[in-house]
Amino acid sequence: MQKHDQDYIKRKNRATVFEMIKNNPPLSRAEIARLTGMSPTTISRIVSDLFHLDFMHEIEQETSSVGRKAVLLQVNPRSVLSVGVEIDKTMIRIGVIDLDGRVIGSRTIERQKNEAAEATLGNIAAGINELIEAEDFDRRRIVGIGVGLPGIIDYASGTAVLSAQLGWKQTDIAGILKKLTGLEVAVDNELKVKSLAEHMYGAAKGSSRSVLIGFGSGVGSSLIIDGEIYRGESNSAGEIGHTVVDPGGILCECGKVGCLQTYIAEASLLEQSNKIKPIANLDELFQARRDGEFWAASIIDRAMTFIAVTISNIACMYNPDTVILTGKLVERFSEVREFIADKCMDQFVWEPLRGTFQIVYSAFENDGVVIGSGLLAQSRFLDISSQMEQVELIDN
Ligand SMILES: [Zn+2]
Repeated sequence: MQKHDQDYIKRKNRATVFEMIKNNPPLSRAEIARLTGMSPTTISRIVSDLFHLDFMHEIEQETSSVGRKAVLLQVNPRSVLSVGVEIDKTMIRIGVIDLDGRVIGSRTIERQKNEAAEATLGNIAAGINELIEAEDFDRRRIVGIGVGLPGIIDYASGTAVLSAQLGWKQTDIAGILKKLTGLEVAVDNELKVKSLAEHMYGAAKGSSRSVLIGFGSGVGSSLIIDGEIYRGESNSAGEIGHTVVDPGGILCECGKVGCLQTYIAEASLLEQSNKIKPIANLDELFQARRDGEFWAASIIDRAMTFIAVTISNIACMYNPDTVILTGKLVERFSEVREFIADKCMDQFVWEPLRGTFQIVYSAFENDGVVIGSGLLAQSRFLDISSQMEQVELIDN
């Protein structure tokens, strides 16, 4: 066999063993051999390398028969790390994420409204470096950076094609951040990474067909099929905020008339409210409804109706097993949750689809984008052999 063929097989086997233990912990060496079909000698060599470089832990477990102890292996969650970044209009969140999707260190940086991309990305790079040094994270263990932001993102190149919320157009986020940090960078839409976090470790764990719907500054969704984010032709699948629900309706920020988000998005609700009374935020709008103000009730009731309609439309389109709701409107106001619990399934969802899916709420709320971005970087950049070489030059 050629040297590079041997090397290829070795790398492939290591990846298989590492994934197997990561996804089915804890496992004995014998079980790994049985599940992968590799020889016990091969398993023992790979495991010993992984163990030596601290990628694995051994635990002892009592077996059922006469008090014998079995030695089982599990992955050390801190042996591979990534950085997750959320860029929002006025805020940047940075987190170091471990293999179990836990945030093990974080920073929040303010962002000036309409700050230029170069300035924001410079602050992010500085923030990442500061976080790594201050909390003494092992740089060699970091596989890359994931970034989540609102807008249309070219996933392959890591470019923000258009982010209306940030005021960015054709911004090479991956290129700039890689230059500043020396780390690999993956970029995606914020709801897509959030849905990944919920699928892997949150509200949709174990689901094979889940849709996350975000009701926040805009309205959007992300579909995960068998563990994969469904992107569509240009990574725009799920942009339901601009589906037209009333061709004779209200003018949307996108220039069209009657888009779904003109009935639900925060800015739109505030704009409609301010035609009647000065209202600064959603809290004031909901307070007005609680105080019995008819106009506030009518704006909120219409928004809740459109939320239920959206859930029903999504169910018809994708036939998911789980719908995850997220965003300020559903997370902060109990009225909205009660409306969905009482009325959505019974009054809005088409009868054959009733009860075929569960409606759940985000398990991560504010951390979701940071966690999902970090997990995205791990899934795209983790190559266990390269990681091993980076931690210590091992004998090939
Ligand atoms: Zn629109």
